[in-house]
Amino acid sequence: MGKALIIGAGGVASVVIHKCCQNPDVFEEICIASRTLEKCEAIKNKLAGSKTKIQTAQVDADNTDMLIDLINKFRPDIVINVALPYQDLTIMDACLATGVDYLDTANYEPPEIPKFEYKWQWAYKDKFEKAGITALLGSGFDPGVTSVFCAYAQKHYFDEIHYIDIVDANAGDHGYPFATNFNPEINIREITAKGSYWENGDWVETEPLELKRVYDLPEIGPKDVYLLHHEEIESLALNIKGVKRIRFWMTFSEKYLTHLKVLENVGMTSIEPIDFEGQKIIPLQFLKAVLPDPASLGPRTKGKTNIGCIIQGIKDGKPRTYYVYNVCVHEECYAEVGSQAISYTTGVPAMIGAMMMLKGIWKGPGVFNIEEFDPDPFMEELNRCGLPWKESFSPELID
Ligand code: NDP
Repeated sequence: MGKALIIGAGGVASVVIHKCCQNPDVFEEICIASRTLEKCEAIKNKLAGSKTKIQTAQVDADNTDMLIDLINKFRPDIVINVALPYQDLTIMDACLATGVDYLDTANYEPPEIPKFEYKWQWAYKDKFEKAGITALLGSGFDPGVTSVFCAYAQKHYFDEIHYIDIVDANAGDHGYPFATNFNPEINIREITAKGSYWENGDWVETEPLELKRVYDLPEIGPKDVYLLHHEEIESLALNIKGVKRIRFWMTFSEKYLTHLKVLENVGMTSIEPIDFEGQKIIPLQFLKAVLPDPASLGPRTKGKTNIGCIIQGIKDGKPRTYYVYNVCVHEECYAEVGSQAISYTTGVPAMIGAMMMLKGIWKGPGVFNIEEFDPDPFMEELNRCGLPWKESFSPELID
């Protein structure tokens, strides 16, 4: 059916590529392109014998001209961006210049400002409309599946949604005293930033990790959850009409937070460049270099993740509560594609989003957040492709 150019060769990219190869009728040909060619080759070698034809290429995705050359050579139907959020705009520019559809899993963040917002990518709406191409933003798990869960709830179960609590729990254990489950730089920037949630048409800001609750998650049990700012809040606040409050909660163990506090206190999480033996280094990037590579956690991680949305609102004049979630088992992900569940839960929805676009089920033109499209075909594919979801109509609520 089509050709996909996949940019990035990290933990998430590896899952996307495995899943594309499980669906060779849709993904007939792919090109894996990243900064380090050996990583692209290593993934390709793991998938030798696959029906999907695989090429590799070296590319610096900060360089739009280099991307344009690569797109012109490979002529993909879609570019799947699973590099880092810093590359979103250069890749979108290359898609515009070549007339190719675009998909990503994380919104743009300028390297020098630890603040992710959709404003930069939403500013491309007119250009994508005029070019007649589609950009699908945030097709991972959160944002991604959580946003589709909200659209599905809106379509099938509510006349009005008032409150959304997104809960992201990882009860997996990799055995290291401290490691992050996806890119450490992106992860630590997110957690050490101020928290915020949406209430009555405005942002309410909190100190980093200031708000904590205990939530009893199905199949995982009670966990400490902390309020974070998260990018899907911004788009859901626009797209779920009448919503009064949206909050995002994530689990962290005490051990993880103690390590993080120490690293923060000694300056290791800073993104301000410092002089070190005659050269400028960014402490957080140095920290990333000494921490375990998230892609290496796969064989060590045991346990489950549970990510879902607790939604409250009104149906037929009566109050209704609804909880929709996915439970994913780290060991099962590893057995299937050689990655832990965090990469898996991001990579599978990225593949499904691309499938929706290649099949013409989700079409632009323009720049869209994932909850703007019909959730039903995506929800069906989640069940088929390894991320089955469960529902409850009497969940515990978060106060
Ligand atoms: P990794 O760090 O494992 O992989 C990133 C990849 O991008 C690496 O292969 C890296 O190359 C490559 N890359 C970085 N900069 C460039 C560049 N300038 N040109 C070309 N390639 C580049 O990250 P993850 O796989 O864990 O995460 C990938 C994306 O997924 C991130 O944007 C992350 O924010 C997002 N994500 C989204 C989630 C969601 O639920 N929505 C959850 C988790 C992650 P090299 O190896 O050479 O450094």
